[in-house]
Amino acid sequence: MSLELELKELLEELKRYFECQKILGLDTIALAREKKKEESSKTYKKELKHQVFKEKKTIINIEEQLGIFDKPSKKLTLEEIREEIGDCTRCKLHQWRTNIVFGEGNPKARLVFVGEGPGEEEDKQARPFVGRAGQLLTKIITAMGLRRSDVYICNVVKCRPPGNRSPELDEAGTCEQFLFKQLRAINPDVIVCLGSVAAQSVLRTKEKVGNLRGKFHSYGRAKVRVTYHPAALLRNPGYKKPLWDDIQVVMKEL
Ligand code: SF4
Repeated sequence: MSLELELKELLEELKRYFECQKILGLDTIALAREKKKEESSKTYKKELKHQVFKEKKTIINIEEQLGIFDKPSKKLTLEEIREEIGDCTRCKLHQWRTNIVFGEGNPKARLVFVGEGPGEEEDKQARPFVGRAGQLLTKIITAMGLRRSDVYICNVVKCRPPGNRSPELDEAGTCEQFLFKQLRAINPDVIVCLGSVAAQSVLRTKEKVGNLRGKFHSYGRAKVRVTYHPAALLRNPGYKKPLWDDIQVVMKEL
């Protein structure tokens, strides 16, 4: 094989790798430093993690990585993403759904709310957050001086988990690629993650809401605020004040 051909194949392979990272929701890549090679593997991994999350100057955006190549991955429109989902059977949740609940709202929204998955009413109407918890979210949006049509509302999984259970890891892991594509299409300034499932998908973490609240996180250029799911409020009115505190911070940011 000629050197030129080998180089071309290597570049193609790298491109596929970065595309895959992007679909998985990773938006930064660490620039490893030469001296780290001398260190033990355990210390090196710890340091690399630190570099990714703490040292802004040593991370670069995935978009920039893709920009190295001639043809960066195509940014899909919401319609194209819905088309790509089709009559999806990629995970076991398809067995129990009546409708796929894709998401709705302003395709250019500055604010996106992400929940975990559709409930019974959402499954019937093919619309996100229209049950009791949804009505509460609508009240919150109104209290912010906005309309539902000003923001975008969607979930990590697009099909209703049976008995309104939380999505399982394999289900969220299969479906979240569409959420990431939606976020890329909308390109919001602020993302509000409602509950642990949404926060764990968007922020690639295993932390719970309680540990993630109280500060802004990053998803690409968007700021991410984590708060309680409105359904948790229905079960525990004590969450009302902390949720409202979080929403006020988001309002200030907008
Ligand atoms: Fe497909 Fe997502 Fe529904 Fe699973 S939850 S079947 S991945 S659309």
